[in-house]
Amino acid sequence: MSRTKGIESTAIRGGLAGTLLLLAAAVAGAQQTQRQDVEYTNKIKEFLTDPRISTELVDHLPWSDKVPTTLRFPGIMRIVGTPGELTHAADIHRYLKAIADAGTGRAKYWTIGKTEEGRDMVILAIADEQTIKNLDQYKGYLAELTDPRKTSEARAQQLLHTAKPIYWITSGMHSPERGGPEMLMELAYRLVVEETPFIQQIRNNVITFITPVVEVDGRERMVDTYYYNKKYALPATGRGGGAGGGGAGTLPLVYWGKYVAHDDNRDGMGQFLALTRNIEKAGIEWKPTILHDLHEAQTLLYASTGTGPYNEQLDAITVNEWWMFAENDIMEMTKRGVPGVWTYNYYDGWVPNYMFYVVHAHNAVGRFYEVQSYGPDNSTITVNQSREWFRPNPLQGQIKWGPRANTNIQESAILFALNFTAKERERWLENYWIKNKNAVRRGTDGPTFGWVIPASQHSKANAADAVNELIDQGLEFHVARSAFTVGGVSVQPGDWIVRGDQPYRTVADIYFSVQNYPTTNPAPYDDTGWTFQMMRNIVITPITDKALLTEPMMPVTGHVSAPGGVAGNGPAIIIDHTGDNNMMPFRFRLASVKMTAAESEFDADGHRFGAGSFIIENANRTQVEPLVRELGLSAYAVSSIPTGVRTHDLDVPRIGYIHSWSNTQNEGWVRAAFDYYRIPYTYFGENEVYKRNLRSQFDVLIWPTGGAVGTLPQGGTPIPYKRSAEFPSLGSPDSTDDTRGALGQEGLRALYAFVQEGGTLITEGGTASIFPQYQLTPGVTVDNSANNLVARGTILRGIISDRGSPIAYGFNVNQLPVYFSQGPLLDAGTTPAVQPVAAAGRGGAAGRGGAASPYQNTSPMATKLVLSPWDPTENWPPNSTPAAAGGGGGRGGGRGAPAAAPPGGAAPPAGGRGGADAPQPMLDEMRPRVVLQFPPYAQDMLLSGVLAGGEVLSNRPQLVDSRIGTGHVVMFAIRPYWRWQTQGTYILGFNAILNWNDLDAGRPAVGGAGAAALR
Ligand SMILES: [Zn+2]
Repeated sequence: MSRTKGIESTAIRGGLAGTLLLLAAAVAGAQQTQRQDVEYTNKIKEFLTDPRISTELVDHLPWSDKVPTTLRFPGIMRIVGTPGELTHAADIHRYLKAIADAGTGRAKYWTIGKTEEGRDMVILAIADEQTIKNLDQYKGYLAELTDPRKTSEARAQQLLHTAKPIYWITSGMHSPERGGPEMLMELAYRLVVEETPFIQQIRNNVITFITPVVEVDGRERMVDTYYYNKKYALPATGRGGGAGGGGAGTLPLVYWGKYVAHDDNRDGMGQFLALTRNIEKAGIEWKPTILHDLHEAQTLLYASTGTGPYNEQLDAITVNEWWMFAENDIMEMTKRGVPGVWTYNYYDGWVPNYMFYVVHAHNAVGRFYEVQSYGPDNSTITVNQSREWFRPNPLQGQIKWGPRANTNIQESAILFALNFTAKERERWLENYWIKNKNAVRRGTDGPTFGWVIPASQHSKANAADAVNELIDQGLEFHVARSAFTVGGVSVQPGDWIVRGDQPYRTVADIYFSVQNYPTTNPAPYDDTGWTFQMMRNIVITPITDKALLTEPMMPVTGHVSAPGGVAGNGPAIIIDHTGDNNMMPFRFRLASVKMTAAESEFDADGHRFGAGSFIIENANRTQVEPLVRELGLSAYAVSSIPTGVRTHDLDVPRIGYIHSWSNTQNEGWVRAAFDYYRIPYTYFGENEVYKRNLRSQFDVLIWPTGGAVGTLPQGGTPIPYKRSAEFPSLGSPDSTDDTRGALGQEGLRALYAFVQEGGTLITEGGTASIFPQYQLTPGVTVDNSANNLVARGTILRGIISDRGSPIAYGFNVNQLPVYFSQGPLLDAGTTPAVQPVAAAGRGGAAGRGGAASPYQNTSPMATKLVLSPWDPTENWPPNSTPAAAGGGGGRGGGRGAPAAAPPGGAAPPAGGRGGADAPQPMLDEMRPRVVLQFPPYAQDMLLSGVLAGGEVLSNRPQLVDSRIGTGHVVMFAIRPYWRWQTQGTYILGFNAILNWNDLDAGRPAVGGAGAAALR
């Protein structure tokens, strides 16, 4: 077999040689007219590790009297692709600015915003002199092509000949992926200076935008870390993602940006990070036709398309565009004998959380490359790629790789993409125009003519925040001027309306849709469910009546705010707990004001207040009212608080925030929520927990996922992470004398003691399973046996099983959507019984619409999962759960069949995992309190995304509160602070903080058992 392949390869190469000669001859002809930079060109040859990784486009560099190359640019003074060297973003930006300032008239440079740490993000625009001079005019053309409500068909047809597509290249988002930012310096120079017809064609027909470094803070840290290790540590071996270090004694790349690492490319929906907001803002302003993001995680070059399923809200044309671009680039590289260029596999195309969705959601096309790592140190890699339909020219065997190979392969491919864009300029503009027309037509033809967001819904401040974030993403809003009913939906004056007949309705289509990810698809690349209104637990209602478009409404022109304020008169002010996250800043910004929380619902002066509402006796209204209004909360001044309302003090806690030094990826999303809501905390590393006197310093500790027990360092040399004059980007956002080690058993003991002494520890995801694993939380265990569960990044139903718990304050119904991803699977003696999927009418997780076949299913989307319906205003009906199940407590052997049938009339589940242990005897006050849990039946769980094998989740806790000594451990099996998308569950963690020393409030009476109430 290998022999056959060898013969084929030889034959291909023989044919290629001739083609290459012809191509090279054509280029050489053009080059003869232009002087070459011999020194630079010689170094390209010198540093190239394998001759296969080259094309006629990048094997030379032309000379310029005006524009410096990096080889002659002070502060860099080397060619792109020099082994063993990396360039700071600040120098890359300086260099691009120098290109713009060199007087060619072919480039323009500007900044597009600051990072969290105050560094600039930039764009360098390149085109011919006439285009650069009239850049704003070209910007206007694209704006016209964006809006068919204002632009006539005749005008658009004219513009297809006069407008020019913007091809925006971005890179440097993932800090350890180093080559893109380096390569883009050379690409910029070449596009400005070179006079071959190939480059001229690009310059004359395309406006190329270059943002060389998206994660600027992370780039500077990465370069500093590389040189730090070069100077002080053992040789730095190629580090991949995360903070994984090289050898012992090597400083890992601890942080990338201020908040997250690799997830900076999962902020496309949430758009919390400055980098995403800056790209979004510039994107809305310039309306790029194509956005191309450069990454480094595949061999040798992967051009994005994806295995599918593709996002179902993308215009179908975009899918064609993905494939046209990818096939163009692969074919041109294959023609030149460059191996290992491919597409399809690796990515799926489903979830819209990637940064390049900022253009997809605005009807343009996003792409990415993944190339073999830059290094920057040369290495030999062994690759045995299979030949597949999506990889016609695989790499097989060893190859010497290095930064020049990385530069050559991606610079060549992107030049082919730019040239393709230039040659087919009108096609991309026409596609863009048609996609914008299609979007508007979806609003005028239906079936969804728009959406209504009630302004006075239960969590109205959260709803206003959501509206503002969507406005920032370019979605146009209107506000109802008077009351009307449309499509059976009652709309009140002040309600927010998203008209369907706008080009950027694609944002709404992508976000508000419900996902259905059949498991017959390839494994998902990332999350499977993201439905915006579920993750935020707010009401957004689609309108299927065209009359919406003619109802009285006016445009929203700036940010909105929730209607809030203080009504009534009286000495006491009650702030209704509406589940709004702004309850948190309200408490902390008035930290010195004494407040109490009501432990149950109550009525006062004719208003009904929810459990957890804040009460301020003898309130200073002039102090309270402006803040209530600013935060969009509802408060009432009343003459007195009715007697009989149980309350507890809302003591403002001192918060400690524990982070890992080896995994700073996910904790940043929790930190993001804390910073946004202005919650003060002390931030410190796991490895110093054991030396702190925790209880005397803190009342609440947050230990987000990513933490681990591990061990403390035993001897050896400390590895500090500190700022210095030589390495100014290190030591942020936290610094330490020693990054080594994790919590250690010593630290775990300290955490346990903290809780015993009355502190509250909040854990989520991975850290939620640690206390149970160490048997520190009586009655709570972790199940690692659920091999068949498929629940990747999905939205499932959560049922509030203990509405008396302060952690559940603020919800007006007893259920909410939760984000869950595979685990952990907790058990609090409440029973995970294996519930068989009821038979009636189920598509079946593994359904293939026919007999099982040993072959791949090539139309996996033909058979969908069955989703459970969601209504945010409805209670989960208690009689739909097997309330009378086999006699109460524990997981007694053979729990009987439940008395009541689940909704939909499916057969009740049979006895579960019979024969489990009898319930352990336990002191009532130590019994874990299950606040939130999965439904009993798998068929009731999946709201949006994927779920198979959900039976194993039956009745399992999603949120447990365990009492140890006089303190509490709060364990979230869900991920309440996921990627700035789960605002609907933030309040659960916030409630635990607000009520930290009264979490026993509302505890069911002796003999009752939290979650057992459901059974
Ligand atoms: Zn990447």
